[in-house]
Amino acid sequence: MNNVLSDSVVSDPLTPTPALVIDFDQIVSAYNRFQHAMPEGLIYYAMKANANPEVVRVIVGAGSGLEIASAPELDLALRLGLSGERIICSNPIKSPAFIKRMHEAGVYAMVVDSTYETEKVAHHAPGSRVYVRLAVDNTGSVLPLAGKFGVDRDQALHLIDLARELGLRPIGLTFHVGSQCLAPQNWVNAIKASSEIWRKTHGRGHDLYFLDIGGGFPVGHHHTASIPTIETIGALVNQAIEEHMPEAPAMLVLEPGRGLVGEAGLLVTEVIGKASRGTDTWLYLDAGVFNGLMETYEGFPPVVRVVGNASNGHRPPNLVTLAGPTCDSCDVIARHVMLPEVHIGDRLVFLDAGAYTNEYASNFNGFSIPELIAVGHGASIPQIELV
Ligand SMILES: *Cc1c(COP(=O)(O)O)cnc(C)c1O
Repeated sequence: MNNVLSDSVVSDPLTPTPALVIDFDQIVSAYNRFQHAMPEGLIYYAMKANANPEVVRVIVGAGSGLEIASAPELDLALRLGLSGERIICSNPIKSPAFIKRMHEAGVYAMVVDSTYETEKVAHHAPGSRVYVRLAVDNTGSVLPLAGKFGVDRDQALHLIDLARELGLRPIGLTFHVGSQCLAPQNWVNAIKASSEIWRKTHGRGHDLYFLDIGGGFPVGHHHTASIPTIETIGALVNQAIEEHMPEAPAMLVLEPGRGLVGEAGLLVTEVIGKASRGTDTWLYLDAGVFNGLMETYEGFPPVVRVVGNASNGHRPPNLVTLAGPTCDSCDVIARHVMLPEVHIGDRLVFLDAGAYTNEYASNFNGFSIPELIAVGHGASIPQIELV
């Protein structure tokens, strides 16, 4: 391909690198797509995906609630003017101090997935609403979360009974199919499993009304057609609820993180070094696994393009290894990446970088965390052509 990245921010030589360019209009449009795909769904943005205050403000402004995991996340939610009613906590492990703070702030409900946690919540937040995290199938997710959290059917029933015995208000169930889940059937299977537990709790005198289908909604359909869209997933979710839950949950909750912010972000980097090692060509960038690209270390395949310049002429494709700037040998972003020939000083752009980029970044070895550059509110990232 002989294309050119024409976007002014990305190709402007004055744009510092590394930079995380975030398009606020794109975030709002992703929010609207979610709402349209699942009209019955109540969106609680999982703010760990990108907790930049301006990003969270835009999402809350679009009508979202927030899913939080820690006291600093609670503080930011409250600072942005959100009431406790519009906040939930799906972190299965919470410190006593955090539980108390949530109780004082009137956080709507929090998750439990063990007897210890249920007792802890009953002690530090008496009478609060709780929901139980189920362990569900995570195969087909780029970043599975299975194993660390969640309980099986019998344990779920036990925890719901226990919560009531301890004076809590058990309201429902949640699950997480894994991040960047490419298998929409996982939501269907998890809804089906939830509905079976749900029915059994009715027989035990509970009145659940809250079903939280978690996050995991994938990004990237615009460059990889096999990645399911939110519209596809929404249609399957809606159908599964209709089919398996004759009494639809009064609160159907979604907790997208990546799905709301991922496609709104571009990570702009500069190639600062190049080496031939054996048969491999190595490109060293000013961003790596420590300062922005941590997810690639977890196996997330980066989608990367060269910022083109029409005057560069033809660039033959090459297989390269991409690495970060630090002296740590694990700072390797990806191997066997096909790119047009790249020179020192060229810029590379990572697509769909709006989630889990700066949130994971550190200043290790003295290298900068990407500078956040906001565009939008009318001035969105223009249509860009890629080499
Ligand atoms: C991380 C997380 C999310 C968001 O996940 P994404 O894959 O970014 O959508 C939602 N809910 C919980 C409980 C999480 O831990």
